[in-house]
Amino acid sequence: MPEGRIVKALSGFYYVADGDRVYQCRARGLFKKKGAKVNPLVGDWVVYEVISDGEGYVMEVGERTSELVRPPIANVDQAVLVFSMVEPAFSPFLLDKFLVHTEHAGIDSVIVLSKADLAADDDVEAVVRKYEKIGYRVIPTSTVDKRGVEALREALRDSISVFAGQSGVGKSSLINALFPGISLQTGDVSQKLGRGRHTTRHVELIPLPGGGYVADTPGFSSLEFIGIDELDLAEAFRDFGALGVPCKFRGCLHVSEPGCAVLAALQAGELDAERYEHYKQFREELKEYQRRN
Ligand code: GDP
Ligand code: ZN
Repeated sequence: MPEGRIVKALSGFYYVADGDRVYQCRARGLFKKKGAKVNPLVGDWVVYEVISDGEGYVMEVGERTSELVRPPIANVDQAVLVFSMVEPAFSPFLLDKFLVHTEHAGIDSVIVLSKADLAADDDVEAVVRKYEKIGYRVIPTSTVDKRGVEALREALRDSISVFAGQSGVGKSSLINALFPGISLQTGDVSQKLGRGRHTTRHVELIPLPGGGYVADTPGFSSLEFIGIDELDLAEAFRDFGALGVPCKFRGCLHVSEPGCAVLAALQAGELDAERYEHYKQFREELKEYQRRN
């Protein structure tokens, strides 16, 4: 039986792309009986059966490499976190928060520093060095002098990507520079977006000219710590885990535990103090979130 990728879900139909064709499919009842977990999602790799010209049934859903909840997309490979150097000012706090969500979702992140033409080269370099040291790919871009555009286009090739970032950072301009003619609802991913607003949107994967897809929806429509516990939060900091010596106890939360390698590294200046500060602030936000829910 043929296999394809669900690129859109709308009104009970799943649109399965296979090569240049898209089949409008219904899911066989059995997905629904097994509960929410096996409901087909946009991004799923599926086995389908053609019943008539252009129509068919989704028969089987393949294993997922990742699963985002808001927006609901399976098999996202990477989040493209767009942060402008200026206008709005670069926010390491918000970037670290996005990184908690991408790490928790098990997807990789590419950090894009947009509007690099408006910033001093040294300032851009400092951010690049800081996040590369932690293990992230960082690409400074500008739609004015076009730096980084080709590198980002390459980074998107053959992957399923979601774009995320505050309104006004230059996502639309960037996508336009990358792929003229493709427009995405880049939306406003502010921290204040209410819960529920995202539910009316449908999710669609837009095929890219060079192969791969970009989700036509802002990634991470909520930055609340939904489904994240304190250990998840600690584990979402790659730099904590990458220290040569692990903490003495498994499940260390790196707050005041004796033998904590993270605290030792912080003392020794081997760990970025600002990242640790954000970790502590996120812990407070998490506790507050748990109190409310
Ligand atoms: P979005 O809300 O994230 O989609 O942001 P837009 O693409 O609408 O861009 C917001 C503003 O920033 C617009 O006025 C753009 O012209 C400007 N802008 C976007 N990218 C760049 C850039 O690389 N350099 C400069 N100087 N301005 C940019
Ligand atoms: Zn520790």
